[in-house]
Amino acid sequence: MIDIPERILLGPGPSCIPQRVLAALAKPTIGHLDPVFLRIMDDLRTKLRTVFQTTNELTLAVSGTGSAGMETVFVNLLEPGDTAMVAVAGVFGGRMVDVARRCGGAVEAVEAPWGTAFDQDLLIEKIRASKPAVFAIVHGETSTGVLQPVDRIAEAVHAYGGLFILDCVTSLAGVPVEIDRWGVDAAYSGTQKCLSCPPGLSPVSLSPRAVERLDRRKGKVASWYLDLTMVRQYWGQERFYHHTAPINMNYALLEALDIVLEEGLPARFKRHAEMHARLKAGLESMGIRYVSQEGRHLPQLNAVAVPEGVDDAAGRRLLLNEFGIEIGAGLGAFKGKAWRIGLMGHGATARNVELVLAEIREAARRR
Ligand SMILES: *Cc1c(COP(=O)(O)O)cnc(C)c1O
Repeated sequence: MIDIPERILLGPGPSCIPQRVLAALAKPTIGHLDPVFLRIMDDLRTKLRTVFQTTNELTLAVSGTGSAGMETVFVNLLEPGDTAMVAVAGVFGGRMVDVARRCGGAVEAVEAPWGTAFDQDLLIEKIRASKPAVFAIVHGETSTGVLQPVDRIAEAVHAYGGLFILDCVTSLAGVPVEIDRWGVDAAYSGTQKCLSCPPGLSPVSLSPRAVERLDRRKGKVASWYLDLTMVRQYWGQERFYHHTAPINMNYALLEALDIVLEEGLPARFKRHAEMHARLKAGLESMGIRYVSQEGRHLPQLNAVAVPEGVDDAAGRRLLLNEFGIEIGAGLGAFKGKAWRIGLMGHGATARNVELVLAEIREAARRR
């Protein structure tokens, strides 16, 4: 086995994983229909509902990373020819457009400049004009470090019978995500961001309205693996075999959810906000500015301009090789221009903030 170094993961994910979660992964593998595993699945569903702040019956962990959750939502809820409107202001909005088109959707992309949030009133106007079968938006855009307000969108979408899809991959368990109160019909997340669990599962939740759309489909879901009409019969009381659940990943997610709920959602959100404020103050005192819109910063993902005079790749290499700290490079329009500093879940601590500030200062000194 190759020697795996210990890293402090302060990038866009995976995030730092607590020892308890790693220990859960190492527990004995049991059968996917073992009564003990079925109890774990039920427990997972209950705890995922709490974290998503929903009572949605169809809440489960899809086998696959966050992108599998994205694909699950679109492939189940869109049928070929259906209209979809997607808000795009970064990489992950763009990925939703690609996925929706592959599902045969007639996609209208609504764009905003990278680093900015959408004005909800403007979105509502566009939704009312186009009446798309689904409207989709990213809550926390990890490529730009922007937190998108989404609390007023659902009413416009529901007025004509549309469905509201929300990407919560980075936002879940780091900032408030209120699926029921915001009227979200389909939400998906990932385990390796603020849940601080290795990558491999994607929590997904569908509202009764979305389930009704699923039940009314004219044709079969184009993906066999992600077909919720079958997957839900494994997670539901039927317990029909569909595919072998990644057993140990589910242990890890359950442990990660226990840790989240022991801390409590309000305390967890407060910690993320405080660590963000601490990092921001430190960066700004060094003259480093955010590339995301003021007032719309995503606390768990800080996208900042590469410090003046520092080489992007060399600076990140120094952090990784000498100090064992991983931060993220800029993506897309921000490639070569931005650094993405993640303070996600278990990694959002004062010690990590001070550490990354000190090492960035050192990188700037050595330029
Ligand atoms: C990370 C991320 C994804 C993709 O998740 P993977 O686990 O990499 O497949 C999707 N959306 C957002 C907002 C993300 O941050």
